Amino acid sequence: MEIYNTMSRQKEEFKPITPGEVKMYVCGPTVYNFIHIGNARPMIFFDTVRRYFEYKGYRVNYVSNFTDVDDKIIKEAKEEGTDANTVSERYIAECRKDMEALNIMPATVNPRATQEIGGMIEMITKLIDKGFAYVAKDGTVYYRTRKFPEYGKLSHKNIDDLRSGERALLVTGEDQKEDPLDFVLWKPKKEGEPSWPSPWCEGRPGWHIECSVMSRKYLGDTLDIHGGGEDLVFPHHENEIAQSEAANGCTFAHYWMHNAFLNIDNRKMSKSLGNFFTVRDIDGKYDPQVLRYFMQTVHYRSPLNFSAELMESAKTSYERICNCAQNLDYLLEKAQDGEMAGEKEALAEADSYRVQFEKAMDDDFNTADAISAIFELVKWINSNTDESSTKAYLEALRKELLTLTDICGLIVEKKKTADPFSEHVEEKIAERQEARRNRDFARADAIRDELRAEGVVLEDTKDGVKWKRA
Ligand code: AMP
Ligand code: ZN
Repeated sequence: MEIYNTMSRQKEEFKPITPGEVKMYVCGPTVYNFIHIGNARPMIFFDTVRRYFEYKGYRVNYVSNFTDVDDKIIKEAKEEGTDANTVSERYIAECRKDMEALNIMPATVNPRATQEIGGMIEMITKLIDKGFAYVAKDGTVYYRTRKFPEYGKLSHKNIDDLRSGERALLVTGEDQKEDPLDFVLWKPKKEGEPSWPSPWCEGRPGWHIECSVMSRKYLGDTLDIHGGGEDLVFPHHENEIAQSEAANGCTFAHYWMHNAFLNIDNRKMSKSLGNFFTVRDIDGKYDPQVLRYFMQTVHYRSPLNFSAELMESAKTSYERICNCAQNLDYLLEKAQDGEMAGEKEALAEADSYRVQFEKAMDDDFNTADAISAIFELVKWINSNTDESSTKAYLEALRKELLTLTDICGLIVEKKKTADPFSEHVEEKIAERQEARRNRDFARADAIRDELRAEGVVLEDTKDGVKWKRA
């Protein structure tokens, strides 16, 4: 399996630190509003990465944070006349709803910055002790980038050019930095902001330190994969590397994966530009699964332009896959047991699409080609099944299709809606069984009579209690 590593700028064979295990950290959203569909791109893509590793038999430890202390959250809280915690709690809950709608598996852990302040103070102390950080007069703690000679290795930027550029941009108040590229680890509290005590001043952490601390706590000093959108390469991930490698004295992550932007009219979709749709906006118009499908029709390192036409086309394609799965279910209801000549050979042919799918995914998670393989399988199934197909054959094809759609996190079968009356009858039957186990036959008979009054007849069989409407 090959992964493109932003660090080396080439595809590399994936070798896990621990055989059979993947330790992944993906930078999550800042929770001050509903997530937009640009934010959903890394969520969907890295969830598919995780699902594919799991399919391959790896145990994946997947950690993704919520940034719940930040200028934007504080600003939103001020505008609403509430506190930052109320804002972040609300949008974490909303984000989880969107993730569920997009069929994103719950992370192993979703740490939150405000719950990990102790760890951040510990790491900052260590960086100061090792000479990698310094405390300015007002209590701000800065990272000393000159002390970390590899600073810039991920973003491949010319650091000296950056330094002179930044120097020209230095604004008043920042001149307490030793170097223009030094960044904040801890900053003093301002009136009305959330704050915590620290050895340097009452204040709050800078943004970058949370990911270094939380990834180490839940995954260890070295990660297999660190991911996020490409806007995070510099400075966020560069700064995470500087912090973690200086504090822990070892490589921070073996593979750095970054998704390209979701654009609208060829500009990055972002809250600050105001050119965004939230996942919730889309949910009103399309099944969120269509969005999930759409995101995977393009390779994750290519920009993806959002448009109504492309969403319509994604909808049509997604529905074709759903129709195929539903058609299989329909045929299965009537199919006979037994074996038919040629079915074994046909199944081997169908399996070649799985091989094609894997080949695409093994090549740096090429979901675009993987989806094409699903499509070809759908076409093949449509022309190689009918009322005469046997049960075992149809079941094998159903499994083949659903295995692949499941790796892409696509739900293609109709959700079975529970029938409230059946649920009620099942509950009563369970209650009656319990009464019988307790030798409370009067209660058991009473339940039988109650159900009979509702038009339900019970039948005790060797396979348990069956029921039918009278
Ligand atoms: P933020 O809430 O801005 O910190 O973003 C959370 C995650 O979404 C990060 O991994 C960003 O890189 C990613 N992201 C934000 N906007 C876009 C976009 N338009 N396209 C793709 N990824 C994005
Ligand atoms: Zn991060």
